[in-house]
Amino acid sequence: MKRVKKAVVILLALFFLTSWACSAPENHHPRYIFLFIGDGMGLAQAAAAELYLNALKHDSAPFRTARELTMTSFPVTGLMTTHSENDYITDSAAAGTAMASGTKAENGFFSPGKRGRLPEHFMKKGYGTAILTSVPVDHATPAAFYCSSLSRKDYHTIALEMMDSPVDIIAGASVLGNRPHSREGSPDLFQENHTRVRVSLSAKSVDWPAEKETKVLLIPDEEMGQFPYAIDDPGNGLLEKAFLSILQRLDENAFFFVIEGGNIDWACHNNDIAAVIHEVAAYDHVIGKAVDFYKKHPEETLILITGDHETGGLALGSEEAGSLFPALISEQRVSSEMMAYETKESPLPFERVVKSFFGDDFYSYLVEKGEGERLASRWNEARQGDDINGRFAFFAELTRLFAGRAGFSWGTGGHSGSPVPVWAMGEGSLEFTGLYDNTQLYEKILKLAP
Ligand SMILES: [Zn+2]
Repeated sequence: MKRVKKAVVILLALFFLTSWACSAPENHHPRYIFLFIGDGMGLAQAAAAELYLNALKHDSAPFRTARELTMTSFPVTGLMTTHSENDYITDSAAAGTAMASGTKAENGFFSPGKRGRLPEHFMKKGYGTAILTSVPVDHATPAAFYCSSLSRKDYHTIALEMMDSPVDIIAGASVLGNRPHSREGSPDLFQENHTRVRVSLSAKSVDWPAEKETKVLLIPDEEMGQFPYAIDDPGNGLLEKAFLSILQRLDENAFFFVIEGGNIDWACHNNDIAAVIHEVAAYDHVIGKAVDFYKKHPEETLILITGDHETGGLALGSEEAGSLFPALISEQRVSSEMMAYETKESPLPFERVVKSFFGDDFYSYLVEKGEGERLASRWNEARQGDDINGRFAFFAELTRLFAGRAGFSWGTGGHSGSPVPVWAMGEGSLEFTGLYDNTQLYEKILKLAP
């Protein structure tokens, strides 16, 4: 009898223990959240980079399925629609707004939403906050996370909001709206009285203010339109340097950290496949650093990777090639933008220019295709003009032909309406499976706030 009683007690205890254990982990509140937004990065951009890295490793076997990117090896995958309030094809202001505020905005515009932006929610819970981009800090995507001004073109108003925003660290290539009318000599934001302190990203190591509470603007001494493209600046660039420095500085207790790969979008607008591939690979390297952090805090970290929209309508396939030859991409030496800058008043003839930027084989290919003469006379016109736009257009045509030969093609110089992938890893990551709208990304992240 006694034995039976004892067994019942043990069974009951076991029942309560297991039911407690099953219900306890339901509350997912990651303490460390990374939100990577590859601007313009759709599935094709990631796949192109992966095929390229794969082809370099394995000579000529483009069909291998090995994972070469960190992002594509994440355990959780979702898909996200990106349309704006007034268009199937979104711009970055509306897309950023949907993710930051959970609200649909019209193209070109922000909205603070009814319930506030994500960084504010996390700040209230004691999280440190940071926004990093490879383009100007008052550009549409980063601005959507701190700005209430309606139009993305209102750069000075956005910059003013940036200086007074409660976000702890805002970092990027420059401040477009630094001066009221972008006139040289007019007073700039850094001379006015703002609490946010400008800190140099150019110095060897970032010299943070002693007071942890000080709001920081982290930009290079010499402001730039964007961080150099990875293809023009091999090695670990400014985005990775800034990322690692910010990570060290962020609150050890908890943080919400947005990292925008703005350069990916700009390379896609140029339809420059080689620049895109190098940019995605470099961005993936930064993601790898977040994964290193995750490995130290696996139970408390969430990493999300997505794009705000796809740019360029990139296709893995071209009429010209009939298949994919990603290894050919390695023959392009610099971005098409850099080609235009490097050839100012160039005396070089067409053949030399093509061979120096794209290699000998591409020149032969153009000649065989019967394009040699036409392009040579285009080059003679483009190189003589003072206007860099002529050279931009010329090299843009060359890079599109170069892409076609390697099996890649572009549908547009603008954005497209393709859904974008979402990759997730860590605490709360299962929330992000399935197909949902970009406003739902906000809801899903908000659900994870404590
Ligand atoms: Zn965008």
